[in-house]
Amino acid sequence: MNSTPTTISTDWHGRADALAIDGRAFIDGRRVTGSGRLSRATISPIDGRVLAELATCAPADVDRAVSAARRAFPSWSRKGAAGRKDALLALAALMERHSDELALLETLDSGKPILQTTTVDVPGAIATLRWYAEAADKQSGELPAVPPGATALVTREPLGVVAGIVPWNFPLEIAVWKLAPALAAGNTMVLKPAEQTSLSVLRLAELATESGLPDGVLNIVTGTGRQVGAALANHMDVDALAFTGSTAVSRTLLEASGRSNLKRLSLEAGGKSSNIIFVDTADLEAAAAKAAFGAFYNQGQVCSANSRILVQRAVHDEFSALLAGAAAAYSPAHPLAGLEGNGALISSAHTDGVEGWIARGRAEGKVLFGGARRDISGSDAYLEPTLLGGLPADHDVHREEIFGPVAVLHPFDTEEEAVALANATDYGLAASVWTSDLSRAHRVAGDLLAGTVSVNTVDALGNTTPFGGFKQSGFGRDLSLHAFDNYTALKTTWIQFG
Ligand code: NAD
Repeated sequence: MNSTPTTISTDWHGRADALAIDGRAFIDGRRVTGSGRLSRATISPIDGRVLAELATCAPADVDRAVSAARRAFPSWSRKGAAGRKDALLALAALMERHSDELALLETLDSGKPILQTTTVDVPGAIATLRWYAEAADKQSGELPAVPPGATALVTREPLGVVAGIVPWNFPLEIAVWKLAPALAAGNTMVLKPAEQTSLSVLRLAELATESGLPDGVLNIVTGTGRQVGAALANHMDVDALAFTGSTAVSRTLLEASGRSNLKRLSLEAGGKSSNIIFVDTADLEAAAAKAAFGAFYNQGQVCSANSRILVQRAVHDEFSALLAGAAAAYSPAHPLAGLEGNGALISSAHTDGVEGWIARGRAEGKVLFGGARRDISGSDAYLEPTLLGGLPADHDVHREEIFGPVAVLHPFDTEEEAVALANATDYGLAASVWTSDLSRAHRVAGDLLAGTVSVNTVDALGNTTPFGGFKQSGFGRDLSLHAFDNYTALKTTWIQFG
């Protein structure tokens, strides 16, 4: 282990060394060893330490998990919304009591700074769980107008067994974005975390049972996407599948649904989001600080990262200099040090890929700042925040996800040009606009093809507002009451009198 920085106030290094980590799957209320032949060591990108042996589930384990969820469904769905609310609030309270442990697991597994997991990821996941628990018993049906002599009720019914497949960039938060509305609506669940980051969600399932959630309501199957994820996608007894990950995998899930039982899909796929800075931005320095956050937060591994920064020519150079200053706040530091700044990327291999994009930017355009890879505590999965420029607007850097702390700067002259540049991508997850002209803000927001448009901020997100994409960023929405659409079907009960 490397030495502890003097600024540290909590001994996260010592707590990490003392943490007992269980990598077994969680099916029907208990830990199980997967029946796949090999378990797989799960490695921390922070320093390469082996955290646990992660169970490799086989399709037979997926069957067991789906059967357990199916058995648990009738009593969970008939428990009533108030009963489910109480059960999920009890889980949220237990998560809160274990929030340091969950944050530490998340940091060790994903490389995120402990300052982020303790203040954002874990409190955010708990808040989302509470929000849906509280929403559970505040839903109402409809009594539509029908001809005299009849009454029609329109109710929302749970679908049954919901599968979730989630990525490694916000392992606990995105898992809760799926499981909280799914369970609150009365479904049971089988969740597959990313193979790189399964530990926080496994612990969450254990806490769920400890808090009183009935066996089988929440099951976690671990292993690869090709085996375990595909088994869920092709399963004949899974009623819906909620996914966050890449557009490429989204396509395979659509095919699997078509080949199997037409299970309902909600797909949150990738993004290549633009941040448009107009010359009339009221506070350019504040915009630069937010632009740095939008591009580099979470090591830039954010599906809605504002990684294309489009700046009106008259303020281009001034903004570029301000951004260089603001980006310093995202320089990497040891994730357990309790410091501001970025942590490690998800793996050394992923960092190689991101570095490849920087090399292309250097060869075909220029590196405006950053670009260096750093070695911290024996791991080379650390990168300085990097800005590329001088690349044509149709360059791959402008169109493809890099999923690392690398943004590209590009000048524009007119409003029409800015909108055309921002929309020239296959994705449509998010976009940001900076201007002090309200009419322009409204006009440009209307023209941008994106699920969320942030005006005079970046990456605006909350439990009350839907999050998801246009175009090849997928369909279905996480967060807000609209997420219930992913996990419920409308039922009409028509009662004819006399
Ligand atoms: P990924 O698509 O490779 O993996 C996501 C999940 O899918 C993982 O659990 C993985 O095991 C599983 N998977 C992989 N292949 C599968 C298959 N054939 N069948 C079933 N499941 C399979 O993505 P990733 O590398 O984990 O995450 C990065 C990607 O996710 C980026 O493209 C990013 O934009 C996207 N993402 C999107 C959002 C969003 O909300 N739109 C959020 C986070 C990440």
